[in-house]
Amino acid sequence: MIPYGRQEITEEDICAVEEVLRSDFLTQGPAVPNFEKVVAEYCGVNHAIAVNSATSALHIACMALDLGPGDWLWTSPNTFVASANCGRYCGASIDFVDINPHTYNMCVSALERKLSAAEKEGRLPKVVIPVHFAGQSCDMVAIHKLSQTYGFSIIEDASHSIGATFNQSKVGSCAYSDITVFSFHPVKIITTAEGGIATTNNSELAERMSRLRTHGITRDQMHMRSASEGLWYYEQLELGYNYRMTDIHAALGNSQMKRLDEYISRRHEIADRYDKMLTDFPVTKPYQSLNQYSALHLYPIMLDDSTRRKFVFESMRESGIGVNVHYIPVHLHPYYRQLGFSRGYCPAAEDFYDRAISLPMYPGLNPKQQDYVVQRLKEALS
Ligand SMILES: *Cc1c(COP(=O)(O)O)cnc(C)c1O
Repeated sequence: MIPYGRQEITEEDICAVEEVLRSDFLTQGPAVPNFEKVVAEYCGVNHAIAVNSATSALHIACMALDLGPGDWLWTSPNTFVASANCGRYCGASIDFVDINPHTYNMCVSALERKLSAAEKEGRLPKVVIPVHFAGQSCDMVAIHKLSQTYGFSIIEDASHSIGATFNQSKVGSCAYSDITVFSFHPVKIITTAEGGIATTNNSELAERMSRLRTHGITRDQMHMRSASEGLWYYEQLELGYNYRMTDIHAALGNSQMKRLDEYISRRHEIADRYDKMLTDFPVTKPYQSLNQYSALHLYPIMLDDSTRRKFVFESMRESGIGVNVHYIPVHLHPYYRQLGFSRGYCPAAEDFYDRAISLPMYPGLNPKQQDYVVQRLKEALS
């Protein structure tokens, strides 16, 4: 089976993990702070807080921005459910902004219209989570500008896009946002098995997120409510969680970071090759913006005709090709339908969903396998 995405693990990765296993610390040792430093330096950002998943990172990011009951969180429907669920964990209400039919990212003019209507009704969002779908950044300049007019905070869900750039700066630099979140699940760009990280330039948000990932506890006298009672003393300031990353996972991440740029150029080679081979196919190839460098987490094609998607998908699966569909619009899941959403709410995301197929895309995909994928796609389409 050729999967749609998968990790690449080298001998060096294995040695890095083994070294931790033979060391004094399996968790809360030096590997996590090292990993945070490497990611922060790579992105050109002041702080990075490593956690056990991107979902956890999204949750503590929302908490750090004081999202709570009575507040609204807006995100894209074309994403994994975690981008919306983090708001529900905080008791906030969720709304969805439809996508641009070319980029498949949150549509800036739809966002603008929705904000202007929400302002009149007094229900502006506290937090907006743009999702950099398939590895390509949203138009962060425009979204940031709207945040200043309408007063919302921005969390970039960059689970697909570590290594990508937008306007010359790395995604994760938080040049146009409060917090950026990356995922290190094995199908993503680099992996720690399970894991995620939140980056920010705001030291208060960083401090709060590092506390929230470890029960809301501080050992820093500066942040304590009363004087320290001794060297053993710590204080729980608010209700946090155990969302820590282990040193074993961080060591794998550190080792993978060394190959991040190489992975992304390999993904670009694969995408260029798909682009050429699919020239005469009745499909829409993923749009690449000129002032951006995508991390190319996914290679989603869109069929001309939604009635053929099921057949094409199933015949590719029968040929041993692990195609996938990204994404079932979040508002169409039963959990969100029960909150009042239904088909027709985000027509562009729904249309994309009806016709989308993600072709295999990962650094280890070789030309022979890629030829086979394209050959089978051709047969399924004819
Ligand atoms: C994978 C993913 C997540 C969740 O990541 P985990 O590390 O598995 O928690 C969130 N948002 C998007 C867009 C994702 O693709």
